[in-house]
Amino acid sequence: MSGAGGRRLIVAIDGPSGAGKSTITRLLADRLGYVHIDTGAMFRAVALVAQRAGLDVADDQALARLCRGMEIAFVRDNGCCRVVANGEDVTDAIRTPEISLLTSAISTRRVVRDFLLTLQRRMGSEGGVILEGRDIGTVVFPDADVKFFLSASVEERGRRRWLELKAKGEDVSLEETIGAVALRDEQDSAREHAPLRRADDAVDVDSTGLSVNEVLSLMEGVVREREH
Ligand code: C5P
Repeated sequence: MSGAGGRRLIVAIDGPSGAGKSTITRLLADRLGYVHIDTGAMFRAVALVAQRAGLDVADDQALARLCRGMEIAFVRDNGCCRVVANGEDVTDAIRTPEISLLTSAISTRRVVRDFLLTLQRRMGSEGGVILEGRDIGTVVFPDADVKFFLSASVEERGRRRWLELKAKGEDVSLEETIGAVALRDEQDSAREHAPLRRADDAVDVDSTGLSVNEVLSLMEGVVREREH
């Protein structure tokens, strides 16, 4: 719950894939009583629907049509958020390695970014929200009350993702997974529109070698201070 009399802030958490953003953001949102908006899941949902429709990622007109007809919502279920796209629960379907790579490609398209930008601003405008992504502090909410840039070494991020995939029964090698994380870093940083970039006024948090609780306490402290 938010502290008595505290302002309900807009908190931005950006960083590369596998830095622990989703876990940290979910737990931090719970501690603060804030709404968690996973913008990566929104890009993934667009990628999944595009893939099923057999769209070419470079076909901007088709992508624009798809976005116009698209509804994305986050639904709380047992304390965890489900991602619902066009009425279907896609929470698990959007987490495959194939959709991860397609998402990275589709998120370079301006039509998709513009569509999601509008939606993200609408969802966050009231405050009391934590948005996680790549361009929240730089593009979506450049005036966010608190900005974090959460990172970790590429090896550590690859290892974490590999453990997650293995737990789900996916048969992938550690090396392959580290390679995929490095490739996504490259795609996300090199793209023309809203690349992954640290905001000048972001608080840096390097989670390499830190426990989830250590990272959480550090970040909660920063937000609490700014609420007053
Ligand atoms: O955070 P997650 O790994 O779910 O994000 C999936 C992909 O969505 C990223 O690799 C990135 O290409 C894209 N993305 C983005 N801008 C955001 C969030 C995610 O381009 N704000």
